[in-house]
This record gives sequence, structure tokens and C-alpha cells, in this order.
Amino acid sequence: MGSTRHVAVLAFPFGSHAAPLLNLVRKLATVELAATFSFLNTPKSNAFVASIAADLPNVRFYDVWDGFEDGYVPKGRGPLEAIELFIKAMPGNFREALSKAVEAAGEVTCVLSDAFIWIAEDMAAEMGVPWVALATAGPASVTAHLYTDLLRETFGTGEEAKAKLEEPLSCLPCLLPARVRDLPHEILMAEVNSPFARLLHGKAAKFPLAKAVVFNSFDGLDPPILNHLKTKLQKCLPVGPFHLTAPLAPPEPDVHGCLAWLDAAPSPASVVYVSFGTVMSPPPPELAALAEGIEASGARFLWSLRDAARGNLPRGFAERTRDRGMVVGWAPQTRVLQHPAVGAFVTHCGWNSMVESVASGVPMICRPFLGEQMMMSRILEEVMGVGLAAKDGVLTRDGVEESLDLILRKPEGKTMREKAEALKQIAEDAVGEGGSSTRNFRTLLKIINPKA
Ligand code: UDP
Repeated sequence: MGSTRHVAVLAFPFGSHAAPLLNLVRKLATVELAATFSFLNTPKSNAFVASIAADLPNVRFYDVWDGFEDGYVPKGRGPLEAIELFIKAMPGNFREALSKAVEAAGEVTCVLSDAFIWIAEDMAAEMGVPWVALATAGPASVTAHLYTDLLRETFGTGEEAKAKLEEPLSCLPCLLPARVRDLPHEILMAEVNSPFARLLHGKAAKFPLAKAVVFNSFDGLDPPILNHLKTKLQKCLPVGPFHLTAPLAPPEPDVHGCLAWLDAAPSPASVVYVSFGTVMSPPPPELAALAEGIEASGARFLWSLRDAARGNLPRGFAERTRDRGMVVGWAPQTRVLQHPAVGAFVTHCGWNSMVESVASGVPMICRPFLGEQMMMSRILEEVMGVGLAAKDGVLTRDGVEESLDLILRKPEGKTMREKAEALKQIAEDAVGEGGSSTRNFRTLLKIINPKA
């Protein structure tokens, strides 16, 4: 007894939160072979992500209730409705799943959770074990949420803040050149007492209590923010980019033949890849404008577009661009971005997409929607020099055509690619032997198993 390690892993089952957490678990479980990792997640999300670690005998999956009572009729409020029901079901749903995990694998010795599951800190404290949080959003998001009170005191909320949209976040210099308009909406703009805004505020207050906050990031990606966080957190551990760290999950199958299609591209850095992640999609007229812009640019393109949105493409678009474009329901994105034929990425600046693009040396056209995406768009353009923000935050036919021309064909685009290549090199060094992410991962292992 005593030496058996049991890590309870609490997932947030929305958007692309659970997959990065399970990727981290996979990496830990292949080193800590004697430890059991109990992955607590909703049945729906488990079904989607489990293949990442289903081959590992020391990773066990437990279903957590999603908060939907039998016979519940959804009120049509989109993803937030499901999130709010899930929040209401916490912590009871996690406690129930945890008791099953303890029955099977013994007392918990460490709690690892998505940073959104702030009740994990209470659960870990009750059990007298360390709590480690994975910030599935990036360091900019964590910083903005940590300083929610300061930001509300400085800029006010609601109408008061709306009058200050262009003001720079001078009270938080590490986030500059972000402005009030670039902050996650829940901090100043949305109903600040909504369950989701309270969740975000509540979790931020817990960050300093975590033994470590882990990031899918790497030292050198955005030094001012990471350096600041290192002064605020017990341990700030960037251990990514996840997709570059071995041992990887079995490679995602390429069911639509995207990679073979890219192999046939006539020249390197000539294809634009388009994806807005797992949650967002531009409004139909904007999607149509994007398609028109791509068509007008003459660029080759690979577009990951959910089936439901395909009807919004302009009439005849697929036929007219058949010889130079491919639209698929899902692409093996990390492998696509690493392909030498890809020269630009139209993205919503979701944290994972952004890290994957930078670590592949691919410049971005940024169309952010929510959360930290607006801050990232600003930082990618103004600080890192590897992004072009959509003018006024919206994709237009002419804007897309111009941006693609600039990135794929003009000297400015070459400069952006060189900057992205430099970041790619820093990312590769970070995950190499003796690199910062490798060292941080060892520190994380020590928290999970001090005898390691
Ligand atoms: N992704 C993918 N194929 C697709 C679309 C997305 O593999 O066709 C992956 C992508 O590689 C990334 C994740 O889905 O890891 C999206 O995460 P991100 O944080 O960028 O956005 P979110 O989905 O959370 O908005």
C-alpha cells in the first residue's frame, strides 16, 4: 500500500477541453506505469476522446453525469445551456464517479483537472492531496481571469466598459497591446453574474492554490505573459506543444485523404488551410465571403467545415474550385499544418490551433470569436508578427483575398513565415532533451509521484 499512486483526472466536457487533458494523461501514464489514472468525464465526451488513451491499461474511464434530467427539453440556448446544466450538477456528479474510481483503484493521491473544474481544488483539499490544473486555454486567458477584479475596477462593466473598448490594458502591461475590446466577454461585457461568468471568476481565484498550473505552451512563445504568471502561481509549467511531445497518441486517421491531396500540391507554402475549431463557425454571410475571397485569390485550399455549414458556401463554389480545393468534415489538423504545402491558416485563434500553427511555422489569418481568441489575434499580429487580424473582426471577400495574397505571395508574407519558423524552432527545442518543456514535465511527474 502507500506507494500506489492514483490520479483522479476531472475533465471539462465541452469544446476541445477534454482531448488536451487526455493527451497529457497519456504522456504521464506511459511514464508512471505503476500509477492508475481515473479519467472522469461525461459519456458523450468520453466517447469522442477515449481513443487517445484507450490502449493504456493504467488509464480508466468513468462516466460523469452531464446534468440533463431524463426528459429534459433543451431550451435552444446553444452550448451555454449544456455548460450551465453541467455546472449545476457539480460537484455531486464528480463525487459519484470518484467514489467508483476509489473503489477500483484505491485512495486518490493527486487530483489533476481542467482548470475550469475549480471544485477540484476543494476535493483535493478534503482528501489532503495536491491539485494540479491544466489551463486548456492559454496563459493570456489565465492572466486576464486572474485579474478580473482589477479589470472591473479599472474599466467598469457593461455599458461603462463598452464606452472604453479602444483603451489599452495598461493596468496589465504583459497583455499589451490588447485592448478592452479584446478581453474575454465574461470579464467585463457579458452578464457578470451568469453561471458561466461566475465559473470563470471562481476558477481564477483558485489558480494560486494549485500546486502547479500546466499549459499546452512553451517558454519563448509569449515571454511577458509567462514570466508574469511565474510570479503569481506556485508553479507555472508550460509542457507543450502537446502534439510535438512523445509519446503521441496513435496518429489521427486521415479518412478524407487530406495528406495525400497536400502531397500533390505543386509548390511548398501554397495551400491555405481553414478551420474554426470544434465550436465556432462564422455567420453564413461571412462564411460565403470567406469562400469568395479564397476563390478570388486563386489559392489552393483545404477547408475543415462541418457538414451542417456546407449549405452556406456560394452556389457552384465546389464545382468551380474542384481542381484546387478540398472541403472535408474533419482534418487531421496537426499533420496538415506540419505539411510543407500549407502556407497559411485561417483560424479562430483557439488556443490549441494557434499553438499547432506556430509550432509548424504557419502564419495565420485571424478571425476570433470569444474567450482569449481576440487577445491572441492581437498578440499574433502586433507582437509575434505571425498573424493578420480580420479587419474590424470580420472576414470579407476583399480582405481575405488581400491577406492571402500578402501571406502566400508577397515579401511581407515571407517575413511572417520566417518569424513563424523561428517560433517553430523554439518549440522544437523546448520539447527536446534538456528543453524547458521536458524539464517542466519532470517537475510535474515529481508532483504526481514524489518518489519518481
Ligand atoms: N481539429 C482537428 N481537425 C479539425 C478541426 C479541429 O484536429 O478538422 C483540432 C485541432 O487540431 C485542435 C482542436 O481541434 O487541436 C481545436 O482546438 P482549439 O483550441 O483550437 O479550438 P476550440 O475547438 O476549443 O474552439
